[in-house]
Amino acid sequence: KAKALGRGRYHIFDSTLHVAAINTLELETELHKAIKEQELVVYYQPIVVLNTGKIVGFEALVRWQHPTRGLISPHSFIPIAEEIGLIIPLGKWVLHQSCQQLQTWQKQNLVDDSFFISVNLSARQLTQLDLNEQVDKILHDTQINPECLKLEITESSLMENPQIAIDILQKFKQRGIQLGIDDFGTGYSSLSYLHYFPLDTLKIDQSFVKQINETSKKLGLVPIIINIAQILEMNVIAEGIETQTQLRQLLSLNCKLGQGYLFSCPVNAEEAIHLVSSNEWQNLIP
Ligand code: C2E
Ligand code: MG
Ligand code: MG
Ligand code: MG
Repeated sequence: KAKALGRGRYHIFDSTLHVAAINTLELETELHKAIKEQELVVYYQPIVVLNTGKIVGFEALVRWQHPTRGLISPHSFIPIAEEIGLIIPLGKWVLHQSCQQLQTWQKQNLVDDSFFISVNLSARQLTQLDLNEQVDKILHDTQINPECLKLEITESSLMENPQIAIDILQKFKQRGIQLGIDDFGTGYSSLSYLHYFPLDTLKIDQSFVKQINETSKKLGLVPIIINIAQILEMNVIAEGIETQTQLRQLLSLNCKLGQGYLFSCPVNAEEAIHLVSSNEWQNLIP
């Protein structure tokens, strides 16, 4: 009986692998089409001043509106896009789309001059020697002030090729583009390296924000990360704020900015801009 079960499980395991392989291949072909046929859409998550509830910018987060599979999370296709190089056109598209959207909102006077849009860059994009020119062209075409653009680079992508990254980031910095380190604390960068990168903002990874405990008053590593940012003279954005307790504790640690489901999950452009004028989070602030 055990043997039969073993064989059966083997069989299931095999076919699962098979399905997974087909899916990746299918996804690859479909992803090529998705870019051409405009199945990708940018969602926006508010970045909020924690002690007022005011929205100061949005993080642009891509989704894939698949014709039959529904809305696909970037976790399921960004790694594939990265692997097959499609991240390059995809990344350009997200950047262009986000800047164009910001320009529309600026023209309609729905956001002020300091309102920013934060766009994620992948490790592969950071190896493109003409990345600075690509971004310049998009800023020029969409007529966006470089100071309204923030680029988010994960700690691990920075460390993949630090020398090239420093070079590219310095050029961005000279243009006035804001730079943030994403998912801070989850990579393996040595602290002594960090100050070589011209970074304005440090985003505390949501895994650390989750450590802020509801019952005990434990804060985990969050106070230390905030200290590191202060010493390096960087602004801090806390990611993944889901509860009032987390908000209260972050405020007590003098963390100024944050984003998370407590305020809003990423939403489409129309819903996002509606949030800016509705000013509905005052009751969340302790
Ligand atoms: P990220 O840049 O760290 O983005 C934050 C992620 O946390 C987003 O997931 C967001 O929806 C999620 N999040 C925000 N608040 C909360 C919260 O309170 N609780 C929880 N549990 N999650 C929260 P999303 O949109 O699924 O994106 C996942 C990752 O995919 C991003 O992580 C980013 O690394 C990547 N990504 C998304 N869009 C792009 C893109 O256009 N280009 C590149 N290169 N990567 C992207
Ligand atoms: Mg990000
Ligand atoms: Mg992050
Ligand atoms: Mg993340």
